[in-house]
Amino acid sequence: MPDPLPPRGTDWATLKARMADYATGDVRWREGKTAVYVFNAGPEVEQVQKEAYALFQSENGLGPAAFPSLKRMEAEVVGFGLSLLHGPEGAAGVITSGGTDSITMALKAARDFARKEKGVEGPLNIVLPRSAHPAFDKACAVMEIEVRRVGLRDYLADPEAMAAAADAATVMIVGSAPNFPYGLIDPIEALSELAVARDLWLHVDACVGGYIAPFVRMNGGDVPTFDFALPGVRSMSADLHKYGYCAKGASTVFFRSEALMKFMIFDFKDWPGGRMVTPTLAGTRPGGAISAAWAVMNFLGVEGYRAKHALVTEAREKIAAGAEALGFRVLGRPQLGLLAFSRDDIDCVAVWGKLRERGWFSGVTTEPKSLHLMLSPVHAQVADQYLADLAWAAEAVGGVAAKAEARYS
Ligand SMILES: *Cc1c(COP(=O)(O)O)cnc(C)c1O
Repeated sequence: MPDPLPPRGTDWATLKARMADYATGDVRWREGKTAVYVFNAGPEVEQVQKEAYALFQSENGLGPAAFPSLKRMEAEVVGFGLSLLHGPEGAAGVITSGGTDSITMALKAARDFARKEKGVEGPLNIVLPRSAHPAFDKACAVMEIEVRRVGLRDYLADPEAMAAAADAATVMIVGSAPNFPYGLIDPIEALSELAVARDLWLHVDACVGGYIAPFVRMNGGDVPTFDFALPGVRSMSADLHKYGYCAKGASTVFFRSEALMKFMIFDFKDWPGGRMVTPTLAGTRPGGAISAAWAVMNFLGVEGYRAKHALVTEAREKIAAGAEALGFRVLGRPQLGLLAFSRDDIDCVAVWGKLRERGWFSGVTTEPKSLHLMLSPVHAQVADQYLADLAWAAEAVGGVAAKAEARYS
């Protein structure tokens, strides 16, 4: 039986201590030992996030007329995003609760556009590269849309195969910038050409890349065009709570025009509670997620983001080179903050388990079995320590494999 609600309250100091005790088993992300789930831009940014969140924690983004402050902050954040992603004149967007919300709502817009503007009837489908995020599958499960996942070429979306999979009932095609499993930017330019040629809705999922790729390019990185600069891109998702280093619960979804965004917005009045207009999946929208995003973006500015992302690049380059020196093969040519690397002669999932013994918590990629890292600025400081432990873990796992072989030979 779960514990019931305590009959009497407990003082805050006691509760705070108890929470700290609950947290002793959590990963030590502040020390840089976690390369998944948390984007750690350091204590200064964390302080801005928390204080700005607290200032508007009680306010509700559902009521822009009551809270013009939030409306203004949201509009400014949307403007920052659109300017980074080459939004054309008339482009529009909103803050959502996260990437899944952004993707779901972009798909709703694309679906309603197909039904109302193009007169598509009957069952619908979307065409995705195999590496696209499961948020699309979830959205399709909710909206009863068929998902056509198409095989990759060199870990990237294969535009020809996607063209073959698309038909008159395709409401959206997707490219990722980058995809999550490999950290690689799909050939968005070719997908844009396909979208224009066949009048398809191309969504670019820049959830994890939208707030790092523009700055890596400014820093001289080799980042291909992936955004609204390409004419076939109709919508984009970009998460503030990832490489935007904002507080969790904040993403952006963008549309090439206000007219396209209209298909997303839910406007309802057929009940006794009056008219309710909600742009995103949420009703109540936490004011703190909006105010924290506004504060962090203004705190960092272009210069701050470039400096933070230069450290991410440094960490990625160091780890990629170090892993290759240990016999691993980096999958594709990652240019941003994610990378995956593999060795055919040892079980990389076992290496991942071994690294956990030394406090490292990262992800894994399964095709092929690889270690997967999502790097933050803090990792530039611990890259050498990680590589030393990676060498130890690979040796330990390789040793086990060699022993097993000896036993059977
Ligand atoms: C994280 C991510 C998502 C989903 O975002 P959430 O904020 O976790 O809902 C979608 N696509 C990509 C590529 C991602 O990395």
